[in-house]
Amino acid sequence: MSTGYSTTEPDEEELAAGGASTLPAEALAKIARGVRLILEGIGEDPERPGLRRTPVRVAEMYAELTAGMREDPHEHVVPLPGDKHDEMVIVKDIHIASLCEHHLAPFVGRCHIAYIPKGGRILGLSKLARMAENFARRLQVQERLTSDIADTLQDGLRPLGVMVVIEAEHTCMTLRGVKKPGAVTITSAIRGAFRKDSRTRAEAMALIRGKD
Ligand SMILES: [Zn+2]
Repeated sequence: MSTGYSTTEPDEEELAAGGASTLPAEALAKIARGVRLILEGIGEDPERPGLRRTPVRVAEMYAELTAGMREDPHEHVVPLPGDKHDEMVIVKDIHIASLCEHHLAPFVGRCHIAYIPKGGRILGLSKLARMAENFARRLQVQERLTSDIADTLQDGLRPLGVMVVIEAEHTCMTLRGVKKPGAVTITSAIRGAFRKDSRTRAEAMALIRGKD
């Protein structure tokens, strides 16, 4: 068995992600065998030059797209020390790319996170994005992705409230089946003060939508 793909130098992103974006050689080989069977199943010749490396490439892609399974999302939720901010914080348009667990097809979109700090506990903006990415990089359904992000922030930061909104296009919906190009699925998860107070919720939603 060729192990050429496991000896490549990890790039900077992989190092930052703790090497989680790859898998052991046996696991990659197992995925590659499955991809080869797909090629045979659709009537292709896995040995033709254009396809020869496809099983390995797809295996590496799935390793990267599921890297979040091998990381701990809670490690990103570490409050910044010594801050006194207690107004609503909103981070808009965090790009997310995930895999629908029903079809193994990508869904891509944007995640918006709002929270109201308590006791001055806030989170670095890049940490929010990393945490969202961590949950996206695994087999998901959009509803669970949304609530995973909200719950992890609520538990780790203990803010007054959290609201997470995700807008995403599912290729399993836009390329196949009902074929609704451009259809966007919107999900939200609301915790704490955002759940209790409709004005707070409306304020966050207006900021997310870019109106005032
Ligand atoms: Zn799907």
